[in-house]
Amino acid sequence: MSAQIIDGKAFAAALRERVAGVAASFEAAAGRKAGLAVVLVGEDPASQVYVRNKHKQTIACGMESFEHKLPAETSEANLLALVEQLNADPAVDGILVQLPLPSHMDEQKVIATINPDKDVDGFHVVNVGRLATGARGFVPCTPLGCVMLLKDKLGSLSGLDAVVIGRSNIVGKPMAQLLLAESCTVTVAHSRTKDLPGVVRRADIVVAAVGRPEMVKGDWLKPGATVIDVGINRVPAAEEGKTRLVGDVDFASASDVAGAITPVPGGVGPMTIAVLLRNTIVAAHRNAGVAFDE
Ligand code: NDP
Repeated sequence: MSAQIIDGKAFAAALRERVAGVAASFEAAAGRKAGLAVVLVGEDPASQVYVRNKHKQTIACGMESFEHKLPAETSEANLLALVEQLNADPAVDGILVQLPLPSHMDEQKVIATINPDKDVDGFHVVNVGRLATGARGFVPCTPLGCVMLLKDKLGSLSGLDAVVIGRSNIVGKPMAQLLLAESCTVTVAHSRTKDLPGVVRRADIVVAAVGRPEMVKGDWLKPGATVIDVGINRVPAAEEGKTRLVGDVDFASASDVAGAITPVPGGVGPMTIAVLLRNTIVAAHRNAGVAFDE
């Protein structure tokens, strides 16, 4: 293995520490804590784990965490009414509705009801438009975390060739917008891309957000490329009945060719909640009109 390991876990811990410091000064200036409201509908086990972790880390950073758990059979109207109530609550700076929602609900309609200035997930179309036009808004947490790791490792990204594999609204598309804003030359690849290995081989930066275990191989990479593996895939482990997490990149072969690479777990994964807390403290300052160097 020749690649440097990009330690997202350590970076996320340092980011949470910085957020905690800023949260303390916000509380002193505003006379209240910054607040994040998380809404969970139903009992999806993975969503329950995410919401529990968000709650714990919000409190650990010195912010208020408001948890709202609704039964799976809640009507869409009830959920929209709760979102409106959170929009109007001055103690709530950030609102996150945990996805996926039950199938009887229209996710886009629910997201569109969140006040864009409290949309710390950055999924509202107003924030999507702000990102695309370079206006100040909120950027989805996972891709923003990826750019933070890239800038920490590489400094300026200007002029670098970047390939993003995946074009989802939550990762691939905002990732491409962010890299473009950093003046990369960006290619977005997806399931219809011809000669994916050939496209990836041109890249100085590869971001894999596909959801296919260990798809990107070492011999697809330009030697020295920086590889950001967003994928989280659970696969059977060698030991009978056990599972393990792997990314979308074949770490063993890729780490022989790449210059730097994020591991799974411990790379991009821990960044998402840390960036959510960062977005929330930014929202608090903006919403309360407290000056702050973002
Ligand atoms: P989606 O399923 O929404 O999107 C996957 C994308 O990959 C699509 O654009 C699809 O193309 C593309 N794709 C699928 N198969 C291929 C292929 N064979 N070759 C090239 N492209 C392909 O996934 P998400 O963006 O939501 O998530 C991607 C991964 O990131 C998942 O493993 C997920 O678990 C992980 N993730 C991790 C997070 C974190 O670290 N905190 C947060 C969010 C996601 P097309 O559009 O043509 O169908």
